[in-house]
Amino acid sequence: MDLGIAGRWALVCAASKGLGRGCAQALADEGVNLVINARSAQPLEETAEQIRARAGVEVRTVPADICTPAGRAAVLAACPQVDILVNNAGGPPPGDFRNFSREDWLSAVDANMITPIELIKAVIDPMIERRYGRVVNITSSSVKAALPALGLSNGARAGLTGFVAGLARQCAPYGVTINNLLPGAFDTDRLRANFKAQASRGDVSEAEAAAARLATIPAGRFGTAEEFGQVCAFLCGEQASYFTAQNFLIDGGAYPGTY
Ligand code: NAP
Repeated sequence: MDLGIAGRWALVCAASKGLGRGCAQALADEGVNLVINARSAQPLEETAEQIRARAGVEVRTVPADICTPAGRAAVLAACPQVDILVNNAGGPPPGDFRNFSREDWLSAVDANMITPIELIKAVIDPMIERRYGRVVNITSSSVKAALPALGLSNGARAGLTGFVAGLARQCAPYGVTINNLLPGAFDTDRLRANFKAQASRGDVSEAEAAAARLATIPAGRFGTAEEFGQVCAFLCGEQASYFTAQNFLIDGGAYPGTY
């Protein structure tokens, strides 16, 4: 299927590894030029080189913390025009909410709510003028089913979800869609770090933590960043122009609800 987006420009945040990288790769496979970002320059440049070699598109790299105003200004300056914005950043740490400080909450809300909103604010009006735009926010299955140890994530991401539910409807008349992708358990550094953190708390080994999580997934496996990215690319395509303001759960059937 030709998604009809070859030659467009995408800004994919937090994309040297994991789900962001999966989105960048899948968009590049459709002929989309990229600005990709992460804090560490070397893995970012390696990812860019691999994508260029495979897809033959232009890939610009911006090593920066996307949660800072300077980082956001730098990625926006690097992109000739943002047709597609994929919002992503690291997730907040797990823990007991009794131990979270005001600063912990502000960091989580900054990374997982305000940063994507600031980027949307910077790109949305030009998208509306051009009558095409796609915003995909990587959030979490915790938006639909809160994960008890991830209170910071549950709270901050719900805030972003509520905000874009309103904004998406204001943009819909102009060919601009805003959707959220809600990953369940995907085989990335982040997931492995969660198992490691569980093991360091003492009760289980990393392998046991992984096996326990796997047992909750009807598909019987963790997701891959590649398949996650392909769903993102589809949402950015012409065929997805009638999808907006939606929360797409990609979790191998783990969420137990009927709706
Ligand atoms: P990952 O494999 O650890 O990759 C994270 C990527 O983001 C790296 O490229 C990292 O590079 C970059 N990054 C992190 N913080 C950044 C920042 N402040 N500015 C710029 N780049 C930043 O993580 P992932 O599994 O893909 O997760 C991506 C998002 O999905 C996270 O918010 C995570 O909580 C959420 N999520 C993941 C899962 C899962 O199963 N994997 C499930 C639910 C939700 P640098 O470190 O070099 O910056």
